[in-house]
Amino acid sequence: MLPGRYVSSATRPRSGDGQHAHTPTVLFVDQSGELGGAEFALLPLAAACAARSEVVLLADGPFRGRLEASGVRVQVLNDARVSNIDREALRLNWLYAAPAIIRQVCAIAQQARRFDVLFLNTQKALVLGALGKPLHRRQVVWYLHDIMSRDHFGRVQLMIVRLLARHVADRIIVNSSASAQALIELTGLPASAMPVVHNGIDASVFTQLDAGDLPALRRRLGLPETAWLAGLFGRLAPWKGQHIAIDALPELPHVHLVLVGGALFGEDAYEAQLREQAQRLGVADRVHFAGFRDDMAAWMKAMDVILHTSTESEPFGRVVIEGMAAARPVIATGAGGVMEIVRHLENGWLVRPRDVAGLVEAIETLRTTPELGQRLAAQACADVQRHFTLDRYLQQMTDVIDHARR
Ligand code: UDP
Repeated sequence: MLPGRYVSSATRPRSGDGQHAHTPTVLFVDQSGELGGAEFALLPLAAACAARSEVVLLADGPFRGRLEASGVRVQVLNDARVSNIDREALRLNWLYAAPAIIRQVCAIAQQARRFDVLFLNTQKALVLGALGKPLHRRQVVWYLHDIMSRDHFGRVQLMIVRLLARHVADRIIVNSSASAQALIELTGLPASAMPVVHNGIDASVFTQLDAGDLPALRRRLGLPETAWLAGLFGRLAPWKGQHIAIDALPELPHVHLVLVGGALFGEDAYEAQLREQAQRLGVADRVHFAGFRDDMAAWMKAMDVILHTSTESEPFGRVVIEGMAAARPVIATGAGGVMEIVRHLENGWLVRPRDVAGLVEAIETLRTTPELGQRLAAQACADVQRHFTLDRYLQQMTDVIDHARR
């Protein structure tokens, strides 16, 4: 992809704006080298700001290549001792990791001093970037992609985030009202302190892909050409609920399930469990593990229906808007940020979390009444092109960044 691929009017320096002699420069920090939703959200933003920014990653991985291919300058500041601190081990590990943490705080602060704004895209980035504020004294923008509750985070982690959000972050951006609500409950900060910016996507990548010859597309992807395919997209993780979809299969003898996504964050045991579950239920021949894929548009267009089965509230759910852009009917868990995207039986179908019977009913109804699926998908595609555009997303994000300097 060429540098500036994502540049929109939102990111061009404004002329004649007395308060903006120049648009601020930005250091983005993200803890992961893997490609998760937070990283896909940062990618077009960093690309749009490439001329005035750099990205620091706290771990190496395929995300670095994606950023560089978009013309973004990237540095990897990796320290295994810091990377290995996880939620469970936080209390025991931090003493052992303290020297490495201090080194990383200083290293980020040193880089941050070269920029006007420090933009922290993940939790670990928040902690390491915000702790260094006395050293770098830069405006701190935190982009929250999570629902900060005990379902997902440990007590210590929540306590640290609460302190940093209240006392160090200058600007907070949240990816949905659901994420905002949890942060308000955690911190007591007012809603006005955290603008909601929903993710946006380039829907043309989906709408322009010609899936007229469906059997040929499926052949190319190694999928059964004539089966009725339900696709579930996202990294393999228990809370993403791939096991819920497998549980539904014995009741759906005409349906094949395609799981697209890898075990990104050490969830190999869960993948093994899913394979064992499919064997045990006698549906293994109808479950296709595709692994991580780059070409979401092709894989989504190859499906008859797109499932989202998260067992907990999804903070936003990029895969939901992508499925809608692919003009396929989407069945999604009705909780969290998804409620800000999907309206039941208007542009999709909402099912309660962990409701296997509800999922079976939704899939079977859409399989046997294709005209309903087409109506929902057409509305969904129109809604995404109206409300979840990349231009709108970049405009709102750069507005916050550009005002952070004042
Ligand atoms: N994704 C991908 N290839 C895969 C699986 C997922 O590129 O094999 C992308 C997907 O298109 C989406 C992102 O990963 O843009 C996942 O974002 P989402 O908000 O759905 O979930 P998160 O990772 O933030 O929990």
